[in-house]
Amino acid sequence: MTQPAPSVLIVSGPSGSGKSTLVQKILELPGTMLSISCTTRPPRRTENAGKWYNFVTESEFQQMVDAGEFLEYAQVFGKNWYGTPRKWLEKAFAEGKDLVLEIDVAGALQVKQKLPEAVAIFVVPPSRSDVEQRIRARGQDSEDEIHRRLERSRQEMLKFPSYDFAVINDDLERAGREVQAIALASRCRMARQEHHIREILKTFGG
Ligand code: 5GP
Repeated sequence: MTQPAPSVLIVSGPSGSGKSTLVQKILELPGTMLSISCTTRPPRRTENAGKWYNFVTESEFQQMVDAGEFLEYAQVFGKNWYGTPRKWLEKAFAEGKDLVLEIDVAGALQVKQKLPEAVAIFVVPPSRSDVEQRIRARGQDSEDEIHRRLERSRQEMLKFPSYDFAVINDDLERAGREVQAIALASRCRMARQEHHIREILKTFGG
């Protein structure tokens, strides 16, 4: 039986909204795969290369930009560069899997422009104090940095109308079910099922 063309699922939202946990929920669904971003940010102690990120130097990143290897890329917090290599798109399509992108708001808007059929999920933090708590819990940022991140989150919140779905991240159980439901429902969109339906129609004699 012919499989429908895979979806691109963008999980995005303001910094500190808790996107990564929801991405893991989607990846529990069979037939999904993660797009591994390249970043110039140094790895944190807990991070292994190739799991969530491929860590590259600025010149390696620039070479990839020049070679047109990125579907999208952005500089986050005016510091480090992050990009989604196109090769994941090709791999997901070859394997018939849904590709999950966990990217910032600027990157999400670029992907929606290039791939309008991509499904963009906006992960909404329940409040500013919730974001502040998350940032502080990581214990990695100075007071100045915390204020910069909070202001950036506010600016990013304003971009919500560009997204297809919104998930309020105030209850992990419910939010997890919601992102999974969006991923499953996007597989049933008519644009993706049309070919499949035509195949079935043939069994009716066309
Ligand atoms: P962190 O350094 O905390 O892992 O990520 C910082 C921000 O960069 C997060 O908002 C994350 O979603 C975003 N990010 C991660 N990978 C990419 C990517 O490939 N492209 C873009 N545009 N943003 C990304």
